[in-house]
Amino acid sequence: KFITFEGGEGSGKSTQARLLSEQLWRVGVHTFITREPGGSPFAEALRQVILDPNMPPHSALSEALLFYAARADHLDNTVRPALNSGLWVICDRFIDSTRVYQGIAGGLPGEVIDTLNEMIVSPTYPDLTIILDVPAELGLGRAHSRRVDKVNPDTEADAYEKRDLAFHWKLRDAFREIARAEPQRCVLIDAGLDERVVFSEVWRAVQTRLFA
Ligand code: C5P
Repeated sequence: KFITFEGGEGSGKSTQARLLSEQLWRVGVHTFITREPGGSPFAEALRQVILDPNMPPHSALSEALLFYAARADHLDNTVRPALNSGLWVICDRFIDSTRVYQGIAGGLPGEVIDTLNEMIVSPTYPDLTIILDVPAELGLGRAHSRRVDKVNPDTEADAYEKRDLAFHWKLRDAFREIARAEPQRCVLIDAGLDERVVFSEVWRAVQTRLFA
């Protein structure tokens, strides 16, 4: 099975991905955690370029093509081999982040993203996508304190994190809209609560959707 976590800044994706992986191992399911952009050596190298806040201005299309270069490598060298060996793959961000950041926020037409998905992602679509929903202020506050506390070393504010609050509300709405439009694949979870409470919802979704 292929499970993806999506949501805005500070929504708790990586924490919930880790908790899910640990819980799945406990019940005998072998998992592999990965992330985007990145997840394979070449894609991690591209991540440095993609998230560099000092890159010269560039279009959403140029950015999306870099994401898909990274995604093609990640799928071929990490995700598909892991799935083929019987592991459940848990990925921190995937195609819905592209839809939201480069699509809705960056203005890239949805059809371009659909075409890239058909070329590069198909047939490896997620079986389940967990969208973690937090108010923009709360998420940004969490992302900021994570950096200040230096809990996470990979945390220089990127270009998106530096945008204003209205922008982050727009991202949140876009994630909610994806969850509404694709209820078979997606589940929307209120991630404003304590991480243990959020995880109980995540686990319930995984049990009902993937073990039923
Ligand atoms: O997963 P994390 O929040 O660390 O992602 C790093 C950054 O990558 C995010 O802050 C987001 O701004 C950016 N991103 C993006 N487009 C994507 C995926 C991530 O701009 N498709």
